[in-house]
Amino acid sequence: MAAEPFTTDFKVYLMDLAAAAGGVADAASAADAQTLAHPRPLLHPYSEVAAVAAGILEESALPQHMGYQRQAALYCRQELSKLLRYYHETIGQLKSREESTTDADRRRRLAAKIQATLAEKERRSVDLIERYRVHASARLDSAAVRIMPKVRARLQVQHMRETLHQDVFYNLASSSIEPIACPVCHRRSAVMYPANTMAKPPENLETDFVCPRHVD
Ligand SMILES: [Zn+2]
Repeated sequence: MAAEPFTTDFKVYLMDLAAAAGGVADAASAADAQTLAHPRPLLHPYSEVAAVAAGILEESALPQHMGYQRQAALYCRQELSKLLRYYHETIGQLKSREESTTDADRRRRLAAKIQATLAEKERRSVDLIERYRVHASARLDSAAVRIMPKVRARLQVQHMRETLHQDVFYNLASSSIEPIACPVCHRRSAVMYPANTMAKPPENLETDFVCPRHVD
């Protein structure tokens, strides 16, 4: 793709797939000979597909888990403060009774009762915290693999002295350019940003563009 000279700040440059769709035939035929001679395998091994699907599963289940955890922590704090208030008052009453009596036997009994109440408070607090603990597990049942014929076009985006690359796929079945899979989060996006605009670009990134989620 012959890139227009940029007139806007490079950071806000968007790769507009709708515009790219117009030039895909040219881009495909102009793909360099080396790329065609050594095409990367387009079919992913099933283990890789399963690993990606498991990652997506975890990513989508985690916010829900965190939500339940926050809710449970809130209830737990409320219950715990009620429990601690109750024991604070009870132990306070026992202590004032202990201090006000002169009967040695009665004092001993009250001291033992205070110790027993403190132990009970400890035990009930631990039980309560355990009761509100959230346990969760997510399991991947299946992942479907669909194989579709596609044309891969390598886009070259030039800006000043920099040349960035991005593969796009023209889906022959739907006659359209597919949204690009983000190399970081694997979600598909119709808008991509240069990876070097990220605050901390990950190392060994396979492509030069990432989806907007990773750019401020
Ligand atoms: Zn992403």
